[in-house]
Amino acid sequence: MKQKQITKPDLSRIRDILSKALDLQTLNLTEVSALLDVSDKELWLEICDAAGRVKEKVYGKRIVLFAPLYLSNECVNDCLYCGFRKGNKDAVRKTLTVGEAVEEASLLAGRGYKRLLLVASEHAKITGIDYLERIVNAIYDNTGVRILHVNSAPLRVEDFRRLKASGVGVYQCFQETYHIPSYRHLHGTGMKADYAWRLGVMDRAIEAGFEDIGMGVLLGLYDWRWDVAALIAHCRRLINKYGFGPHTLSVPRLQPAQGTMVDHLKFSVSDEDLRKIVAIYRLALPYVGVVVSTREPAVLRDELLSIGASQISAGSKTSPWGYMKEGDTEQFEIGDTRSLEEVIEKIASLGLMPSLCTACYREGRSGERFKHLAEETLIKNFCHENAILSLKEYEEDCATGRLKELLQKLLDQEISQSSNGICDKFKLIEKGERDIHI
Ligand code: SAM
Ligand code: SF4
Repeated sequence: MKQKQITKPDLSRIRDILSKALDLQTLNLTEVSALLDVSDKELWLEICDAAGRVKEKVYGKRIVLFAPLYLSNECVNDCLYCGFRKGNKDAVRKTLTVGEAVEEASLLAGRGYKRLLLVASEHAKITGIDYLERIVNAIYDNTGVRILHVNSAPLRVEDFRRLKASGVGVYQCFQETYHIPSYRHLHGTGMKADYAWRLGVMDRAIEAGFEDIGMGVLLGLYDWRWDVAALIAHCRRLINKYGFGPHTLSVPRLQPAQGTMVDHLKFSVSDEDLRKIVAIYRLALPYVGVVVSTREPAVLRDELLSIGASQISAGSKTSPWGYMKEGDTEQFEIGDTRSLEEVIEKIASLGLMPSLCTACYREGRSGERFKHLAEETLIKNFCHENAILSLKEYEEDCATGRLKELLQKLLDQEISQSSNGICDKFKLIEKGERDIHI
């Protein structure tokens, strides 16, 4: 098929939009639509390059690392695309006890993770707020994990208050699709059938005191251009209402899973589309963290780091008890099976800075304050130093062999370019002090 010839006004219009994003201004929906309309391949390269520069301007070179911890796959809902759906009669069901959750979290902390994302299916009696609260408290009290985020079913305001009070950082929930007929078809029964209850989830979380919220659509359920625009519209509405929008946007792409009933080809999202989506999120909302999970293959994930992604999971399992034993039902198949060590090594080899930092949650840099610091390009100064400090801890506690040597070299280079302060902080870490951050 012949490529549409790009006209001069189109080109200058797109370049104006890129300049606006490079000034770290949020894009409006007309500008987002103009980017979504671009078909010229060369121009997409320019757009992706601008997205990479915006990421670097806001966050510098750091890439934050985390792992999900699946608590339960017992679910009252029947989302046609998910391996945990009620109708999947072949699923092997499991809900972690508090002790088991602590065991898995300790194992991950021992591997060097400081932040975990707790993921739970929806079952008010099994995985409701009492359960979540007990798990969060036990992990904080008994492991070296410093911040827990939660991806769970939407809660009531009073339950969100309890979740926030337990010390959770980000509350994350994906709308899946904003297209109401598709949403209804995919979520026929259970609590999740109520579109409006899900749509209002972030308002309730914010009302309860959450300033860091994570949003997304499940790419592949409906026309991705439509859903991406709708998600950005939702984010803009939150920004207008509260002064801040999402802390992170995720780009989950539909994966095959056991017992599902969805046509993966109908609205398929290609690798090229996913690159465009990451770039558009980065440009539309420059201050927001863009998260890529291990749903995606290794090579593509590495590429997305240079076009706007700022956080990635690594070494993930997607079944409850999956870190201890393979075999129970996974939510979906994993595309990148590399360990945390391998991902850290890769990030460093790309000239980026792997980070296990959790400082902003500990220092209350959230919501509007975080947005302001990011838009003023001040957050990257925190991010860079904290990334180095977290990596030094990792090098001391967990790294061995070739990775240890590589990290020592990287940290030596950082010392030579930084102030004396860092050198003193390194000495404290070498003496055994932990969680040093700014
Ligand atoms: N149960 C809660 C819910 O549905 O909101 C939270 C946890 S759910 C396990 C986390 C997310 O996984 C869902 O919001 C959905 O976007 C995503 N997901 C479900 N099935 C998937 C699949 N087959 N491929 C990729 N992501 C999937
Ligand atoms: Fe349950 Fe969430 Fe899976 Fe739906 S996506 S079946 S609510 S775990």
